[in-house]
Amino acid sequence: MLAPGGRMVPRPHRCLKIDRSKGTWMNQQRVLQGRCLCGAITVELRGAPGPMMFCHCAQCRRSSGAAALAVLPIAAHDFHLGDPEGVLRGYEASPGKSRHFCGRCGSPVYSRRDGDATVRVRAGLLDLPADIPRGGHIFCASAAPWDDARDDLPRHARYEPGRAHLDQERNEK
Ligand SMILES: [Zn+2]
Ligand SMILES: [Zn+2]
Repeated sequence: MLAPGGRMVPRPHRCLKIDRSKGTWMNQQRVLQGRCLCGAITVELRGAPGPMMFCHCAQCRRSSGAAALAVLPIAAHDFHLGDPEGVLRGYEASPGKSRHFCGRCGSPVYSRRDGDATVRVRAGLLDLPADIPRGGHIFCASAAPWDDARDDLPRHARYEPGRAHLDQERNEK
């Protein structure tokens, strides 16, 4: 949207405040913003993401270098990527599923399956409040043996129940 004089006017977006009584997102006029380590890539979430999931699979572990990867699923049409220098790279770690990262600083940015309406944003890119809705831990069966930190969230050996149908195509190594 251009204002008189050609200035960009931010579009008002539905979004994003947490309803503390219910632990869910409410609609407000703001967006969640984040960036990679070097700042070449920015992300904007203009709708309510799903609950944060912590994935302990070997792919997330290797791609991040961390014990688990914190992921925010969000509808692809609510996910907006800024990459003015064209540094984003992708790696097809599983057939039909690519992990995208900054080609300059290496920060993981998001993953997406071909044709999937959901993008899985790496939550560490964003500054998020302490009470962000969290769903649980997945691929705990693949967790590193030293990865024994515990919280009260549900833990699943592989995918969470809503994505269990993906299990057969996943060859964990
Ligand atoms: Zn970067
Ligand atoms: Zn994973």
